[in-house]
Amino acid sequence: MKVGVHVSIKDSIDLSVDRAISMGCSTFQIFTRSPRGWSAPTISKGVASSFSEKLKKSGISPVVDHMPYLPNLASGSEEPYQKSLETLKEELARCQQLEIPYLVTHLGSHLGTGNDKGYKRLEAALGEALDSSTSKTTILLENTAGQKNSLGTTFEDIRSIMDNVCGGKGRPDLGFCLDTCHAFAGGYDLRTKAGEVFDEIESTIGIEHLRVVHLNDSKGDLGSHLDRHEHIGLGMIGVEGFRSILSDKRVNSLPLILETPVDSKRDDVGNIMKVYELAGKDLPPVLAGKNVQGH
Ligand code: ZN
Ligand code: ZN
Ligand code: ZN
Repeated sequence: MKVGVHVSIKDSIDLSVDRAISMGCSTFQIFTRSPRGWSAPTISKGVASSFSEKLKKSGISPVVDHMPYLPNLASGSEEPYQKSLETLKEELARCQQLEIPYLVTHLGSHLGTGNDKGYKRLEAALGEALDSSTSKTTILLENTAGQKNSLGTTFEDIRSIMDNVCGGKGRPDLGFCLDTCHAFAGGYDLRTKAGEVFDEIESTIGIEHLRVVHLNDSKGDLGSHLDRHEHIGLGMIGVEGFRSILSDKRVNSLPLILETPVDSKRDDVGNIMKVYELAGKDLPPVLAGKNVQGH
């Protein structure tokens, strides 16, 4: 199984690899820059090669990059839209420099301009960014919890974006990242019907396009449209929900990234260990012998 968390790049991007190793990650996610700003410092050749070397030595794979939070690829206003598109292009280039295979992006909000316009904007941005890039990186569309005006809550929405990019030609380097918290809050019952939810992914998007899973429990109830992550098993999806999610071969063979809270109840290592426990799998050697906090 490949399990990891979102890891900090504090002080230098390559330090994320050291942090991931110490937490027993076999995959992990980063921001290549501050997620709450527009500007990104360039990545020096030294840092990029140190990152790649450490990664090769560690055997950790794949690394996933997450887009910063400010861009809105569905914005109906010209300036924010262009800035968002620029950021997507920049981030693809940064992934290329760091040899990162996956870039996860949110699908944005139409901010009241309506779904049709929002999707057209988003699809144009994705098509242009991929067409103008030489990066081997695959962009992964992350499903949303269905907050007001947000795009991409249903699997059909995701499929339709993939079908419509580049004037309907589609792109092989466009895939899907399933966030279990967002899906549950968006109305997909992963608590009691995980298998059926994965069947639905199979029949709409196609299971081969599902490349990464954000494994998060949900503070909000089924269909609440609340994007609030909870520790694995301690939220509304719960222990039995995660047992059945993790027993499904279509999912447990994929990179599983936790974006769970870090608080007095449990830390990142605790959540990683919980995933192995609920999957009925042996812990990686670096974690063996530790106790899960907040059991
Ligand atoms: Zn996300
Ligand atoms: Zn997520
Ligand atoms: Zn979320």
